[in-house]
Amino acid sequence: MKAIAVTPKTANSIRLIKMDKPKLTEIKDGRGVLVEVLRVGACGTDREINNGEYGVAPKGFDFLVLGHENFGRVVQIGENVKELAVGDFVVASVRRPGRSFYDKISTPDFTTDDKYFERGISRLHGYMAEYYAESADFLVKIPPAITNIAILLEPLSIIEKGLKQASDIQERLKIWRPKTAAVLGTGSVGLLTALALRLRGYEVHGFGKDTGKGYLNAELCEAIGATYDSTLELSVTESVKKYGEYDLIFECTGYSPIIFDAMQSLNQNGILILSSVTGGDRKTDQVPSDKINQQFVLGNRAMLGTVNANREHFELGVKDLALSEAMYQGWLSRMMTHKVEGLENYERVFDILNNAAKYSAIKVYFEVNEI
Ligand code: BGC
Repeated sequence: MKAIAVTPKTANSIRLIKMDKPKLTEIKDGRGVLVEVLRVGACGTDREINNGEYGVAPKGFDFLVLGHENFGRVVQIGENVKELAVGDFVVASVRRPGRSFYDKISTPDFTTDDKYFERGISRLHGYMAEYYAESADFLVKIPPAITNIAILLEPLSIIEKGLKQASDIQERLKIWRPKTAAVLGTGSVGLLTALALRLRGYEVHGFGKDTGKGYLNAELCEAIGATYDSTLELSVTESVKKYGEYDLIFECTGYSPIIFDAMQSLNQNGILILSSVTGGDRKTDQVPSDKINQQFVLGNRAMLGTVNANREHFELGVKDLALSEAMYQGWLSRMMTHKVEGLENYERVFDILNNAAKYSAIKVYFEVNEI
């Protein structure tokens, strides 16, 4: 079968390869599911891996099959798979259990292992292939009514986890009724975050770099009742004069200095969620550290980092995808700006991914097989 691979830590090594089709017998205890890949998304993590900045090949291989944003159809099941049937639509989670306690209780997203296993990213082949085999334990069933947007489930799961952590942490307050939120970054993750917060009833303020007029990402914010501001015109710290301090801020720009602006823009008892995996070595100075520290202390503010997602968060995401179609029908499809047919057209996918502004791209994805 065809697959897209890279040599980790080697810049621009992406290529089409031929591999054996996986077999059900590779998965133990009769729990195997063979999945025909229908769509695979590409994101900043794939770009970083192809730039040679991130990613690890599986043991015994000198290449890594890319792809972690996935959507497919079940074509074969093992004898101990009762929860799925041939023909079902599924999305697979990304991280697989390691050795830590958290891995053993089905929360590998909280692993304390230094070496982690993530399909398409770290030590396990991914989903940019015609088929994959996986244990039913890591597959989430997709209702047929949302197959057209299901490729957005994996990125949404990251947000679901962040928001779930925030609400779990805020249980420290006997009453927390957050009203306003800022979303820093309005790429695909930022837009999905704005959506998830609007579905929860927040007043949402999105911030990006591009200036508003005719900018699809800004239009999409406004279409769900969120505002959009360019930080070139209104900084996050200045924005509190206009919108008030935020009860919750979700950072997904990939630009780490902005977190210090966010720290100064939180309401009392507010919470800041950091989700950017910033692989570079950027440094920043001029941080008003006394002020930030004092605000955090005197205002009982909190900040958390969040990565990856477990089954619970994928399941929450399925519900939000369905709710989104009920509340803002067609909005998620507008985000899916660039569909590229066939794995062999990987160069086009990565050209769009690397030049998102030029192409006005939000989400670029392969259609490997028709739904
Ligand atoms: C993926 C996560 C993963 C993270 C770090 C993200 O792009 O969506 O599943 O944990 O990268 O590798």
